[in-house]
Amino acid sequence: MSAGLHGARDRAGRGRDPLTTMTAVSSNRVAIITGASRGIGAATARLAAKNGYAVGVNYRSNRDAAERVVADIEQVGGQAIAIGADVASEVEIVRLFDTVDDTLGPVTALVNNAGILEQQMRVDQMDAGRLSRVFATNVIGPFLCAREAIQRMSTRHGGVGGAIVNVSSVAARLGSPGEYVDYAASKGALDTMTVGLAKEIADEGIRVNTVRPGFIYTDIHASGGEPNRVDRVKHFVPMRRGGQAEEVAEAILWLLSNHASYTTGTFIDVAGGN
Ligand code: NAP
Repeated sequence: MSAGLHGARDRAGRGRDPLTTMTAVSSNRVAIITGASRGIGAATARLAAKNGYAVGVNYRSNRDAAERVVADIEQVGGQAIAIGADVASEVEIVRLFDTVDDTLGPVTALVNNAGILEQQMRVDQMDAGRLSRVFATNVIGPFLCAREAIQRMSTRHGGVGGAIVNVSSVAARLGSPGEYVDYAASKGALDTMTVGLAKEIADEGIRVNTVRPGFIYTDIHASGGEPNRVDRVKHFVPMRRGGQAEEVAEAILWLLSNHASYTTGTFIDVAGGN
């Protein structure tokens, strides 16, 4: 099922498109996974469904791919909805969370996975437009998604608690020189957000952690102009191979789960030893 967001208004506006509004169903576990139409987000959505979550499969523009993820989940008896929303837009983020409230019920897990990088280049070639796009999607979006999640999960706001996992990158440690220092810096900001936010809401029933993937076989490398980048750089990985999206998803689901009940403000690098 899909819920396009055209015609919806914010919570104060109370003007959601009736075509996108369904009867809320009760589920103990409801996950919103941003950027879940492809790559790591899609693998995480499938694994979350296997683990009993009803899943909000967010995407930016590739609705068909998001619908395929939903169909995969429904085929194995799970529940999911595809929701188009650009995490670089505050109003679309609010609508994303409102739509999940109305269709799946209150969110208990947020995976801030959507992220972008742009054409490989040096910093002395980057313009302000590029920097704004990268930071809007990779930093401001996760902050605003976290805000919406906290307003629903925090015991301070009457919620029952939950968990947030940010998808950063080992680039935050390595810096990505000559490729995309802006992207690496945006992931550094996300790492710092994890540390501060985890402490800020640790006694409100919400854990906040980060997974930092290394070189993973997904479409993201094509955005940088090098679709086969993983095969070029895998020789620099101690395990001498690139990773699969499903290997990252496993770490994300562990951090969301009660198996990680005393774990907050920390990082799991899924990077073959890098
Ligand atoms: P990907 O294959 O390029 O998929 C990106 C996903 O994010 C797609 O579902 C895309 O939606 C969505 N998306 C992009 N911009 C969005 C926006 N503004 N609003 C909502 N959704 C948006 O990427 P990936 O490799 O799976 O990466 C996922 C995360 O892992 C990113 O944060 C990335 O930085 C991080 N990461 C990846 C690697 C790697 O090697 N792959 C390594 C380290 C970290 P559409 O399909 O609609 O375009």
